[in-house]
Amino acid sequence: MRNAFHAKYLAATFVLAAATLPAGIALAADEAATATTAPTSATTPRVAVLATGGTIAGQADTRAANAYNAGAVGAQQLVQAVPGIEKLARLSTGQVASIGSQDMNDKVWFALARRIQEIFDRNEADAVVITHGTDTLEETAFFLDNVLRTDKPVVLVGSMRPSTATSADGPSNLYEAVEVAASPAARGRGVMVVLNDTIQSARATTKTNTTNVQTFASPNSGPIGYVDPASVRFLTPALQPDSHKYALPSGEQLPRVEIVYAHANMDGVQIDNAIANKARGIVLAGVGDGNTSKSALEALQRAAKQGIVVVRASRVGSGFVNRNVEVNDDTSGFVVSLDLNPQKARVLTQLLIANGVTSPAQVQKAFAATW
Ligand code: GLU
Repeated sequence: MRNAFHAKYLAATFVLAAATLPAGIALAADEAATATTAPTSATTPRVAVLATGGTIAGQADTRAANAYNAGAVGAQQLVQAVPGIEKLARLSTGQVASIGSQDMNDKVWFALARRIQEIFDRNEADAVVITHGTDTLEETAFFLDNVLRTDKPVVLVGSMRPSTATSADGPSNLYEAVEVAASPAARGRGVMVVLNDTIQSARATTKTNTTNVQTFASPNSGPIGYVDPASVRFLTPALQPDSHKYALPSGEQLPRVEIVYAHANMDGVQIDNAIANKARGIVLAGVGDGNTSKSALEALQRAAKQGIVVVRASRVGSGFVNRNVEVNDDTSGFVVSLDLNPQKARVLTQLLIANGVTSPAQVQKAFAATW
């Protein structure tokens, strides 16, 4: 099966505009609506593919500088470009956004979360795959993991090379994302990220390389599984049903939480600016174990005294930030992020504040509960 797939894969041309329609996939007239494929069999899992943009849907004009366009290709075209994908699942597609993920925002997050919850609540699909740019993919995955109420598989997938590149990685990543989503073993594992044959958890994974196709890693725990065209293998048991689910606030916006990046010769100006900008929370991307200079710590203490949620995270990229080691978190009113990197600590802090959880003790408990 693996060889057959690879022969097909190598023979295929992944210039999406020229892609032919595989048997069983119907074209949607309007991609804003969800289009559905003809059923392979009544027992084949139903997987909804929701597109948001990113390099996986990108096209590059090699003749011109700065002519790279993330998110140029629609959901339906993406699916059509993957040979054999229609055998894995009964696929439907929907377009939620067409953006580079550096422009990902609360509005798209809310639309995505609401649409996925609706798909599951109405029993429209057994699993969801989201195509996404890799720059902020980990934040979207973590956000969804904290707000979706389901044990059905949700898989985010991206690519490092645009669809027009030599050896584009998008089609094989999308194939494997659908393969994971359709696997019975994928249930009850929260939101997952699939790229380059690896399956990572939303909480643990992060983008580690600007260009390499093996960019997603989970520095503290490793991947939760591997996937190839012939198999899906999980290395860890499925999670217990979790309690760390937060309601989406009404409106389209999460509370303002700023990340302050620590460095040598640091003063408190960035922190005072965050206070002046009416941040409800400040996440320190600290040096080492979430550390920073005396004057920055004093500024953070001023913020905490005003009721701003202050979370110490680390810019290091792996390891845990522990309480009360070099900094007295108890007397300062600080929270530590444990394993969460600054960008994910920010998302959790936003969700907690939006759900009325703001005291340092409550926030710390919530950070620990999600580990
Ligand atoms: N910056 C774009 C994005 O995150 C392209 C990078 C990518 O998808 O890998 O959507």
